[in-house]
Amino acid sequence: MMTWTFPTSSSEVLTAELGAGTWAAFTTRAGGVSEGEHASLNLGAGVGDAPEAVARNRGILARTADAPVAFVRQVHGVDVFRWDAQAVPALGEEPVADIVLTTAAGAAVAVLVADCVPVLLAGPGGVAAVHAGRKGVLAGAVPTAVAALAEEGVTVTHAAIGPSICGRCYEVPRALRTEASAQLAELHATTSWGTPALDLPAGVHAQLHAAGITRVDHQAICTLEDERFFSYRRSGVCGRFAGVVRLD
Ligand SMILES: [Zn+2]
Repeated sequence: MMTWTFPTSSSEVLTAELGAGTWAAFTTRAGGVSEGEHASLNLGAGVGDAPEAVARNRGILARTADAPVAFVRQVHGVDVFRWDAQAVPALGEEPVADIVLTTAAGAAVAVLVADCVPVLLAGPGGVAAVHAGRKGVLAGAVPTAVAALAEEGVTVTHAAIGPSICGRCYEVPRALRTEASAQLAELHATTSWGTPALDLPAGVHAQLHAAGITRVDHQAICTLEDERFFSYRRSGVCGRFAGVVRLD
């Protein structure tokens, strides 16, 4: 039986600094209605949770954000969904994209993660949310999002990097580290137990810096280590938390 709970304090989301005219946050597992391995604020469809619980949780997030929130169906790519804020994509019918942006005042956009890096971007007149896992980082999801906002006339001035698996936890095969760090040197990392790893947040930071974005609110929290967040590596079946940004 589900209990309808409202967020009781702002401590259930971590707010991020994205400059004037925006509100940005990363959700935690707390404050929702999902149960079991999805408890409680699972915002992801298609991860084994009851759709009605996900719908309620997305309603809770919209209330917290004080705006309609658009999600996308993420596939570790670099496609862009430009949301005109006319209608929120229905649960389970979200457009396929890993970047969602809007230039509509009063609208919010979000991406879902559980170890991948949620990246939020903002500049005068526009905001974007980016899903940047290993494939997305290597495919250039972040610079693609910056370029997509530029096409809308928005120069990105601020970015936020949310909680994600850290470079001391994200173990990968040695050949994968070699290949990835040949493309983006900042990805090269070693786990705390001495094996090859990738540092995705460091890679995103480097891409933001290369794009000329220096005002970066990096919330250096590891999802594998901090149980306030869903972590696919820690749990396998689990929910998804969100990075969300609203344009005022
Ligand atoms: Zn870690």
